[in-house]
Amino acid sequence: MASGTGVVRHDMYKQHLADYPHVESPQRLEVIYDMLDGADMAANFVTIPPRPATREELAWVHTKSHIQRVAATDGKPHVSLDPDTQTTPLSYQAAKLAAGGLFSLIDKISDGTVRNGFALVRPPGHHAEQDRAMGFCLFNNVALGARYAMHTCGVKKGLIVDWDLHHGNATQNTLYDGPEVLYFSTHQFPYYPGTGNLTQVGHGEGKGFTVNVPLWPGHGDTEFFQIFKQILSPIAGAFKPELILVSAGFDTYVDDPLGGMKVTPKGYAALTHLLIDLANTHCSGKLAITLEGGYHVAGQRESVKAVLKELAEESILTQADLAFLEQGTPPPVVEEVIQVQRAYWSSL
Ligand SMILES: [Zn+2]
Repeated sequence: MASGTGVVRHDMYKQHLADYPHVESPQRLEVIYDMLDGADMAANFVTIPPRPATREELAWVHTKSHIQRVAATDGKPHVSLDPDTQTTPLSYQAAKLAAGGLFSLIDKISDGTVRNGFALVRPPGHHAEQDRAMGFCLFNNVALGARYAMHTCGVKKGLIVDWDLHHGNATQNTLYDGPEVLYFSTHQFPYYPGTGNLTQVGHGEGKGFTVNVPLWPGHGDTEFFQIFKQILSPIAGAFKPELILVSAGFDTYVDDPLGGMKVTPKGYAALTHLLIDLANTHCSGKLAITLEGGYHVAGQRESVKAVLKELAEESILTQADLAFLEQGTPPPVVEEVIQVQRAYWSSL
C-alpha cells in the first residue's frame, strides 16, 4: 500500500470571485493555505500541482453549450450565471483547474505516489448540472473526477461520499441511471437545492446506487458518525469500491452561517477515520477528497486541518473520543433509510 498524503493547491483558485462580494470567497482558501504553511503542517504533505481539465474531459459530464457559456465568461469583469453563481475574469480558468486538480490527485493516488489526498480547490462543484451553473458551482468536480478515474485509471466501481450541508443535486443527477458510481449524501432537508429525499435511490440499473440521508438541523458529530457507521459502511462493504471520492463541505460546521448542523473538527476527523478504514479494507487506501462548501472561515480551517491530520496518520482523536462516538445513539433517520435501502443492500 502506498504511503503519503497529497495536497492540491494553486493561487489561481483564489482568483475566482477575487474582489467580488460573495460568501464563497477566496479567503476560504487563503486561510487554509496559510494553515498548510504552518510549522506543524508543512513537512507532512506532498504538494500536487493541478492541471486544467480539457473541454473533452468537461464534456464527460457537461453539455457543449454549458461549457461554452462558462468559457464565454473568460476575461469578463463580471457575469451572473444563476442568482447565486457569478464569475470574474479568471473564474473559467479556476474552474477548469478545480476539476483538473482532482484529476491530478487521482493520478498520483493511482500511480502510488501518494495513498490519499485533498484537493483544496475553488469553485466547488456538486451543484453544477450537466447543462447549467448553479449554487456557486461552475463544473461538477467530483462527478468529473469519477468519470476521469473510470476513463483513464481503469476504475470500474467508484464511491462518492458527499458530507456537504447541501444535497449534491448535480452529482446525483449525473450518475442516477448507472451502477458504476455509488453516490452517498448526508444533507440538511428540506433545504437548498430541494433534492435528496430518501426515496430518491437511482433509476433503472442505477437503483440502489444513490443513497440519500436527509436530515433535520441539529445533527452533530455522534449522529453523523453513526449514520456513516450504520448505513455507509455496510453498503460500501457490499459494493466494494475501487476508489473513494469525497465531496467535503464544511457548511455542516457548528457555527456555519448557512447551516444548522453541529459538526466539530473532531467530527470531521472521525468521518475521515471511518472512510480511511473503508478505503484500507476495499481499495488499498485510495481516498481522494475535494473541497465543496464551508462558510465559517476559521472553523473550516480547523476542520480541514483535522481531516488532513487524519489522512496523514496524525489524528487529533483520542481512543476515548472514538469510543464515545462508537457508542452513540443513531438518529431515527438511520432506520428510515435502512427500510428503503434494504431492498438493494442485504448487508444492511
Ligand atoms: Zn454546501
